Amino acid sequence: MRYLSGVSTLQYDSNRCTGCGMCTEVCPHGVFIVANAKALVTDSDRCMECGACENNCAFDAIRVSSGVGCAAAIINGMITGGEPSCDCGPKGGACC
Ligand code: SF4
Ligand code: SF4
Repeated sequence: MRYLSGVSTLQYDSNRCTGCGMCTEVCPHGVFIVANAKALVTDSDRCMECGACENNCAFDAIRVSSGVGCAAAIINGMITGGEPSCDCGPKGGACC
């Protein structure tokens, strides 16, 4: 699944990356692969900004603004029993 093009807040610093592979294990959308001892972002538009990669990278190589966007909208919708909405859809309408 891909989200809106070019809006993901995912940032990756290859200089800090040790190639440990943790990001490839925790990412639910397969955004990262490891090749030649470095992580690579395969497609940042697949990122749902869940924050799992940043939280699990012990080398501070990843930044992402979690708690916003599609992941937060889906979780908030589940908690409140309403439709997911991060305001990217039609006014007052559902998205994700
Ligand atoms: S978890 Fe961090 S250090 Fe490990 S491969 Fe991913 S970006 Fe690199
Ligand atoms: S924020 Fe979540 S979906 Fe995006 S790259 Fe990190 S683990 Fe994958």
